[in-house]
Amino acid sequence: MDIKIIKTTQPKEKQAAEKLAFGVTFSDHMFVMDYTEGQGWHDPVIMPYGPIQLMPSSMVLHYAQEVFEGLKAYKTPQGEVQLFRPEENFKRMNRSNERMCIPQLDEEFVMNALKTLVKMDQDWIPTSPGTSLYIRPFIFATDPFIGVRVSQTYKFMIIMSPVGSYYKGGLAPCRIYVEDEYARTVRGGTGEAKCGGNYAGGLAAQEKVHVKGYEQILWLDGEKRQYIEEVGTSNVFFLIDGVFVTPSLEGTILSGITRKSVIELLKSWGETVVERRITIDEFYELHQQGKIQEAFATGTAAVISPIGTLGWQDKEMTFNNGEIGEYTQKIYDTLYGVQSGHIKDTL
Ligand code: PMP
Repeated sequence: MDIKIIKTTQPKEKQAAEKLAFGVTFSDHMFVMDYTEGQGWHDPVIMPYGPIQLMPSSMVLHYAQEVFEGLKAYKTPQGEVQLFRPEENFKRMNRSNERMCIPQLDEEFVMNALKTLVKMDQDWIPTSPGTSLYIRPFIFATDPFIGVRVSQTYKFMIIMSPVGSYYKGGLAPCRIYVEDEYARTVRGGTGEAKCGGNYAGGLAAQEKVHVKGYEQILWLDGEKRQYIEEVGTSNVFFLIDGVFVTPSLEGTILSGITRKSVIELLKSWGETVVERRITIDEFYELHQQGKIQEAFATGTAAVISPIGTLGWQDKEMTFNNGEIGEYTQKIYDTLYGVQSGHIKDTL
């Protein structure tokens, strides 16, 4: 299948790096491809970024049959375009597709489409420290039909947004609150899939913690509200008595690509990483004993976010005196260095 290319005749003006926010402006082009049952994926095209036409009855708008991904492109100091483990994103997208009854993608084909699009818009990759081009592939159900069933038509798209440094003045520890009322997901639910509904369902909890003066939520498991699962839209790690601990993937947690890279990185340094279930009660007890040395979240958007304070009911736990831990900083520097091409990827 050849990709049709329609170049923009009105290239947009690019914003200065210091003005870039996250996910607000978009590059000149986007990739679009349709799916029709019986025909498969067809009509791939790269075209100017702009509005799309949808029937008001499009199934995604009513029943949320959709999935998405997120990854970043960087310009290396040598001026080359670099993507970080993009094949992992398409593998995960196909796992999400399976869960949401969306047809599988040909991973090789969409990787080629992604690379062609990034190459076309490579001038949109900002180069100041901490900046990158955020890439958002997504698929949604387009059958013009009101009724709950699997759609027979879909659109797959890729859009790209130049993003600024997440932390203007270096890494900043954040304040997180343990959510024990709302749940993100349960076993058998969709927590392991990257689908929009998971995020819509989390908004009420996010609003709640903002009012309380915290930045993000620490999600507990949906069944017992005991086990620590994720922080907002990131995975979470703790350094406990010299051992790194991260919640094991039990079907409710999104399998983060940054999480996987951090585990590999720590192991390559000879550190011990344990993937296990950990309850908030055990965690609080360990904190009381002074055994929690560092806490941080991992995800594509911010790479590493140090956790300074964790609020739980009427208690507050502080880690490393609310400052960035030594390992947290070293992991950020190394991973960001590898992603941006400043350090050779040896993992
Ligand atoms: N958990 C959730 C719920 C997320 O949305 C994300 C962001 N994709 C992550 C964890 C981190 O995943 P990754 O490292 O692949 O960005």
